[in-house]
Amino acid sequence: MRAASLIVAGLLSARAALAASGVADATVTITPLGSPDGEFCVLDRALVFEDPDGTRILYDPGRTVRGPDDSRLGKVDAVLLSHVHFDHLGDRIQPAANAGTCDRPEFPVSVTPNSNLVNIAVGKEAKLIVGGEMSTLFSRKVAVAGGDPAQLRLLRFGAMTKVGGVAVASVPAVHSNGLAPAFLEKEHAEVLSANGLTAYVGPPGGYVLRFSNGLTAYLSGDTGITAEQDLVVRQHYGANLAVLNIGGTFTTGPLEAAYVINELVKPASVIPSHANERATQLGQLRPGTRTQTFVEAVKVPAHLPLSGRAMKFDGKGTCVSGCERGRDRAGGPDRPPAPRARSDRSRRPGLPAPDGSVRAGPGAPGQPRPAC
Ligand SMILES: [Zn+2]
Repeated sequence: MRAASLIVAGLLSARAALAASGVADATVTITPLGSPDGEFCVLDRALVFEDPDGTRILYDPGRTVRGPDDSRLGKVDAVLLSHVHFDHLGDRIQPAANAGTCDRPEFPVSVTPNSNLVNIAVGKEAKLIVGGEMSTLFSRKVAVAGGDPAQLRLLRFGAMTKVGGVAVASVPAVHSNGLAPAFLEKEHAEVLSANGLTAYVGPPGGYVLRFSNGLTAYLSGDTGITAEQDLVVRQHYGANLAVLNIGGTFTTGPLEAAYVINELVKPASVIPSHANERATQLGQLRPGTRTQTFVEAVKVPAHLPLSGRAMKFDGKGTCVSGCERGRDRAGGPDRPPAPRARSDRSRRPGLPAPDGSVRAGPGAPGQPRPAC
């Protein structure tokens, strides 16, 4: 009887300690760093994740983060790179916030042959996490930029590392990973350019981040549909939030991405990314966009990554504040959700929807087609 009482008391004290620590109801803050503020635009890629323990991780800064002095960054403990294409690595940046428009943001400041990624990692003295054959490339670039090559942390598929209280795992992405000549020193750049080649730096990747409150986020990188999204991302890691690329041409399009969410990863919610279009106007989803096709096709809440707007997620993958529901905005608050583009398994996910989703695809007139 006394032993049983001690066990019950122990469990109660452990629960009290958990509650006191705030872990049970702690949230992860996810802030998109795109351009312009308050919108989801053509080249928006970058996200900052902040764990309840204060650890801050920047994912794929691309062009829209304005170097290490961008006031939106704050402290950065680690920078993740999925692959070296310019819109993730960053060959150019903006001189000031909101330069250009959502359709055509302006990036006149060149940061090659180094990169926005390396400049940020060095400026913030952050860990730089990459896979493939990218670690030797970036350890050299970090040194050239005045940083410490020990900042590099290689993480190939299957491996996991820790940054503060956040576990970071590498998962596959099926894409390409050629480094544009602009990122190379002059003589190598000229040879490759003359031959129409890029420098290959191993396979691209994605990540799964497990935060201290239990939130488990899948960051797809640029990818098509892969079996590992089921076998690894869902079955092994149990991702309950996905950040998925939806733009088509270079990655899954909106219907392929919806299949990934509905049938493979099956998270509690999703943040669309890499739409390669002006997805919003005044922060509201624009009709006829790829993003609208996606948010109407997925079975779970899709939250628009509006630049500068912090979203808070609990440990179960549910957004508890700051989120803009694409479907609600597209349909209006009093309108029921639009019919899903694919409502049963007999309809193959790769086929265009009869409601005109092809029109919203990558070849739509007026839609810029930024690589990649
Ligand atoms: Zn790419």
